[in-house]
Amino acid sequence: MTLPVRAAVLREVNAPFVLEEVELDAPRQGELRVRVHASGICHTDLSYRAGQGRFAFPAVLGHEGAGVVESVGEGVAGFEPGDAVVLSYYSCRACGTCAHGQPAYCEQGYAGNFSGARPDGTYPMRWRGEPIRSGFFHQSSFATHVLAHQHNAVKVARGAPLELLAPLGCGFQTGAGAVLESFRLQPGQRLAVFGVGAVGLAAVMAARVAGAASIFAVDLDARRLELARELGATDTFLADEPELTRTVLKKTRGGVDFALECVGSPKVLRQAFDVTRPLGTCGLLGLPGADAQVSIPMTALLFGKRLVGMLEGDADPKRFIPRLVSLHAEGRFPIEKLSRSYDFEAINDAVHDMESRTAIKPVLRMHTGAAR
Ligand SMILES: [Zn+2]
Ligand SMILES: [Zn+2]
Repeated sequence: MTLPVRAAVLREVNAPFVLEEVELDAPRQGELRVRVHASGICHTDLSYRAGQGRFAFPAVLGHEGAGVVESVGEGVAGFEPGDAVVLSYYSCRACGTCAHGQPAYCEQGYAGNFSGARPDGTYPMRWRGEPIRSGFFHQSSFATHVLAHQHNAVKVARGAPLELLAPLGCGFQTGAGAVLESFRLQPGQRLAVFGVGAVGLAAVMAARVAGAASIFAVDLDARRLELARELGATDTFLADEPELTRTVLKKTRGGVDFALECVGSPKVLRQAFDVTRPLGTCGLLGLPGADAQVSIPMTALLFGKRLVGMLEGDADPKRFIPRLVSLHAEGRFPIEKLSRSYDFEAINDAVHDMESRTAIKPVLRMHTGAAR
């Protein structure tokens, strides 16, 4: 039995989202039907909307959903109707990479997250009688109801603030995961964050949790730097400051232990690499253009510097999202300072505010007023 639900359908590259009625499959093996309460909007949604994903349209995007389980398919263990869940990225939990504790690099990661289909190539939603891309990160959460998989759903307490927790599934997990899971930053170490949007600010908050001695934040936007300071940055720099690299190297007497690139720009990645000390690690989180190239001095690499790319901050959502939920409850991960809520109907306003940098993390509320 399919279920008629409302979804934000994207008909073609850069088109506005249009709320339409679509038909959602009944949950199959391992799947959960989730009534979505809220969904964050992540930069990857905007990149796919702009055609960066070699993605055929029409499609339903969205990959930071949170809601309540309505029904479960065969073979589902550990979830039942009424459970509150935060949805994250899909991994098979069975391949060699997953078995080694790195589900972000799952062998089925592309098929299960970026293809817009289920890992087996089928589509959970139909629009006007035709299947459409609707398995983005095994959720396509710009919809009132979705089919997630038990492997990308994380149970949280019933009654948890789902509107706040939704963006933990991707953006906040990515920034915080880089610091706490990938770098494993120790008290007294130093971090530099390039680009303080949702991902970079999550990294700043996580670095404070980990006890960083200095947290350098770099951005083009002075207001965002102010917020970064409020959230734990000890030093802030405008990105176009001419002596930026030299100043950071001087202040740190040779460089930071860890630098994070959250922009996806070759120039910024090179800056981040240059402020990293020998034996330090520079991490790439930003999504670059498909053909972006970077040039790195080989001698610096010889001196033990590491340059590493990361998906989802190397975090396993099943372990890491509960940790972030606890940190938030303790007031140590104040994501409410980054979020702005919008009714689902206002999705195009939310996208506009994100693109014009007036909103850091827009969150859509799927069920307000009379809408169901
Ligand atoms: Zn896997
Ligand atoms: Zn994302």
